Amino acid sequence: MGVKVVVTCDNCGLVSEFKPVTVGNHAYISKEFNKKAYFTVSDVSIESDVSVSLDDDYVSKLVESDSVEEITRLLDYEIADNISIDSKLNEVRIDCKQCGEYITLTDF
Ligand SMILES: [Zn+2]
Repeated sequence: MGVKVVVTCDNCGLVSEFKPVTVGNHAYISKEFNKKAYFTVSDVSIESDVSVSLDDDYVSKLVESDSVEEITRLLDYEIADNISIDSKLNEVRIDCKQCGEYITLTDF
């Protein structure tokens, strides 16, 4: 019961089925594909937009830092709070290893 994903190659008839196996309904793609050795996932394309918006306090702390260690610490531990990254999945290609046919999933 629940949602499952079935990958079928219309050319040669091979089938892989993905069913949820954990709390949160995770289905493990590579585990299933590798086990049956029917399909591979490749050419995963992710588009990312990175924007930096440093707040004045952070810039002041950097300017007033008087040691490499302090600057390194600020960059290591606090730079992430000043950067936002938006990512979008663009494409995933699934290849049938048996016959070589493939599908590219896109427009998510
Ligand atoms: Zn096939």
